[in-house]
Amino acid sequence: MSRAATSQQTKLLGGRLAVDFANLGRVFSGGVPRPLTWTTLIAFLEAAEVVSPQRSAKLLAIRQSDADAAESLLSDARRLQSALRNGFSAVTAGGRATGESVEPVNEILRVTEGHDELVFEGGAWRLEFVAREDSFEWLLAAIARSAAEILATGGGARLRSCANPTCGLFFYDSSRTHKRRWCSMATCGNRHKVAAFARRHLHRRS
Ligand SMILES: [Zn+2]
Repeated sequence: MSRAATSQQTKLLGGRLAVDFANLGRVFSGGVPRPLTWTTLIAFLEAAEVVSPQRSAKLLAIRQSDADAAESLLSDARRLQSALRNGFSAVTAGGRATGESVEPVNEILRVTEGHDELVFEGGAWRLEFVAREDSFEWLLAAIARSAAEILATGGGARLRSCANPTCGLFFYDSSRTHKRRWCSMATCGNRHKVAAFARRHLHRRS
């Protein structure tokens, strides 16, 4: 996958880490989700600043050096993503996430006990999560925590799905007026404006 294609797919417009993760693979794909790949997952973690570019480069190489660990993390990530999509769909439809869609979130929260630590990297100090257990699941910890905040009572009040029915993207409405309707003004919002203009124009002529 080219770097440009990866950065398009990882475009962050959801407003919350877990929302962007649920959208991952769906941005600009016409609503049809692409299966999560190792490259897309690592590019996302880098774009969302969960890992540094240096760490991201090392993680990309793990696909070859420790294929089992990579496969295990990727399968957990896919499970988490599909659970978030189900949970968020239920919340945006006015309902509640099921126990089934919450369980993968709890699983990650459970295995990612750890602490934050200052790490010197790329000439600067950055705060990084250090897991107690020696697996890669800690990479999903911040996503699971973000999801838990949204799925806990009251947290989903601003979670929406894009008003374009063919889009399928979620976003977290942090606008002052709470009236955000589109995943992005540049894509769905603009498409709607153009269509509405064409309709008005046609109406006037007839
Ligand atoms: Zn949209």
